[in-house]
Formats: sequence, C-alpha cells, structure tokens
Amino acid sequence: MLRLENIKIREELSSEDVLKIACNKNHVKYDDLQNFRIFRKSIDARNKEDIFYNYTIDICVKDEKRYSKLKKIDLAADEKLKLVLNRKSKKRPVIIGMGPAGLFCGLILSEYGLKPIIVEQGKRVEDRQKDVDEFIETGKLNTRSNIQFGEGGAGTFSDGKLTSGIHDPLCRIVLNRFVEFGAPEQITYVSKPHIGTDNLVKIVSNIRNHIISNGGEVLFNEKVIDFNIDNGILKSVITEKRELYTDTAVLAIGHSARDTFEKLYEKNIKMEKKNFSVGVRIEHSQKMVNEAQYGNKSKLNLPAADYKLAYHNKETGRSCYTFCMCPGGFVMASSSEENTIVVNRNEQICKRW
Ligand SMILES: Cc1cc2nc3c(=O)[nH]c(=O)nc-3n(C[C@H](O)[C@H](O)[C@H](O)COP(=O)(O)OP(=O)(O)OC[C@H]3O[C@@H](n4cnc5c(N)ncnc54)[C@H](O)[C@@H]3O)c2cc1C
Repeated sequence: MLRLENIKIREELSSEDVLKIACNKNHVKYDDLQNFRIFRKSIDARNKEDIFYNYTIDICVKDEKRYSKLKKIDLAADEKLKLVLNRKSKKRPVIIGMGPAGLFCGLILSEYGLKPIIVEQGKRVEDRQKDVDEFIETGKLNTRSNIQFGEGGAGTFSDGKLTSGIHDPLCRIVLNRFVEFGAPEQITYVSKPHIGTDNLVKIVSNIRNHIISNGGEVLFNEKVIDFNIDNGILKSVITEKRELYTDTAVLAIGHSARDTFEKLYEKNIKMEKKNFSVGVRIEHSQKMVNEAQYGNKSKLNLPAADYKLAYHNKETGRSCYTFCMCPGGFVMASSSEENTIVVNRNEQICKRW
C-alpha cells in the first residue's frame, strides 16, 4: 500500500474527486488503482486567507514497483495487533460495567469464545435515554441510570466525541470496529472523530447484540456489591441478585463509581492511584472562536472551530493544557449522585432539548 500525503483541497469535493486530485499530483495513473482509503482529513487554518483541507490517502495499485518514489506503508500493521488470549480456565469471565471499557472487553472476549457475563447497574442504552431526558427536563435523577451510568458509559451522551490523548495503534482498531457496527466511515480519517449520540445509541446496541450472539450475556439493572476472595484468589462476584462463580473479573467501572471503589478498598483489593489534574471550565462564544481560528473569508463549509493550548514549565515539570473542548456545545448538569454537582459540556442533548 502507498501513502499520498499533503493533498491540499480548497473546496468541498467528493472522496472520488479528492482521490483523482491526489493521483494527479503524485503522477499515479487512475487506471492503476485497485483500492483506496482516506487515512486522514484535517483542516489547516493557520493562514486565514487560505484555509484548506489536508488529506492523506492510502492507495493500492496494480504494479507497486512503478511507483517506487511514493511512501510505502505496512498494510499488515492492523493484522499484527490481533490479540492472543491464552486462558486455561473454563469459568466464564465477569465484566463489571458496560461503558466503553466493558463494552470492548466484552466484544473481544466474546469473539474469542469466552462467553463473558457483563454486569451493568444501569439500563440498556435505549431505556437510559428516557431517564436522561427526564433528568434534563425535570431535574429528577435516577442514580443508577443517568448521563454517567448505564450501557455505553459516561461518554454516550457527550455527543460521542472520540477523544484520546494516546497514540496507540489500538485506537485505529477501536475506530474500525465502531464503523463495522454502524459509525460513519469518516471517523477513521477525520482528525477529530465524532459519532453523535443518536448514532452511538444504535452502535452500542449493535455491539451488545453481537456479544450476545457470540454467547455472551448482559445483566442490566444489576449492581456488583461484593467479591468473594479466598486466600487472594477470586471465587465469585456477588451482585444484588445472584452469585457469579468465576476466577476472572474485569473492573470496568469508570471514575464515578465511588461506592464500588469503597468496597474494593474495604476488601483490600490493590488499587493503583493515577495522577489527576485540576481545572477550570471556560466558556467562549462560538462566534469568537470561529473568527479567531478561521477569520471570516473562507468559503468552505467549516465546522464549529476548536482550539488546543498547552504549556509545559521545564523548571517545575508541571503543565497546563486545555482539555475536552466542545465546539458549539452547552454546559449541562450531569450528576450521578444526589446532592452533588457534576457539569459537562454537550452538543446533542441541547439540540434535542
Ligand atoms: C460528565 C463526564 C463527561 C465526559 N465527557 C467526555 C467527552 O466528551 N469525551 C471523552 O472522550 N471523554 C469524556 N468523559 C470521559 C469518558 O466518558 C470516560 O473516559 C469513559 O466513559 C470511561 O469509560 P469506562 O468504560 O472506563 O467507564 P464509564 O464510562 O464510567 O463506565 C462505567 C460503567 O460501570 C458501571 N458500574 C460502575 N460500578 C458498577 C457496579 N458496582 N456494578 C455494575 N456496574 C457498575 C456504571 O454504571 C457505568 O455504566 C466524560 C466523563 C464524564 C464523567
């Protein structure tokens, strides 16, 4: 596979037309093409007088040797990442929580024939939406099923922005899997991929159905409340309704399950603390951000602009950075506990509201 980089496009064009321009620029005969994928599409707005899209396109051609000057990429990179599970136990693994971590864990384990049991204290994503709407309209909170808790986890109602600060090849596999289950293909190449809550609800339920069709099981409205551990070995996971005998439990409980963390602490289960950052929430008018980033001359149909800033103090080793910006979004209440305040910014909920 060959990579065509720095394809600058200054108008709204179809993928096919962008491909033709990319081939032309790199002297690739259109007839030699066998296949292509848009690897990346970003907006270059450094010069307000000349804002353009920057594309990277991967192509397969008939006779690669003819194009020896073009950059070659390793097509097998994705395949190399295939996971190998060397598990001898016959007991079904239990996954606690069905946010992104639990969902993908369930997906992979079910595909390897391990028939995982997923326990989620909240509701199915379709039913969860009703509780979220009720909270937004009336302020009535369901502490088990809300913006943070339930199938799909805390990010489901954040409009499905796929943000990750890491550069791990597995990120691409996650994006590809989302596409397989119904996400728009462009999430695999736009620089700031975004699914949208309405799509995400369907995708999460498609993944759940796939897990079940592979022999997995999902227990909704059921909370894990205890662990039976004998001599440092897990014997069972205890929910409000039953005891699940297993030697493998994956805690995919997210950041906000304070009562479960207390239980783990009480049981002497080793936990590793993570560094945390303290921040402030800043609101700017979108018009101001758009003007600062794009100016007002571009004819392109540009999305709401965002920005990212970072500062690293070499003497103290401390950093300051912008995080989780939501262009065009609104600040929303996102509590999961009574008498506490959590706020988040969100686009989709406000559009529906
Ligand atoms: C308000 C808010 C807004 C956010 N916005 C963004 C964003 O815009 N973009 C972004 O990239 N990230 C965002 N994040 C972070 C993102 O949502 C998380 O990184 C991601 O959801 C973590 O996934 P997870 O699967 O580890 O945990 P979670 O998504 O938190 O899922 C954990 C699940 O475990 C369940 N659970 C917990 N304890 C138990 C138990 N004892 N028994 C059964 N089930 C249990 C919970 O109900 C929950 O559904 C946001 C987080 C919050 C809290």
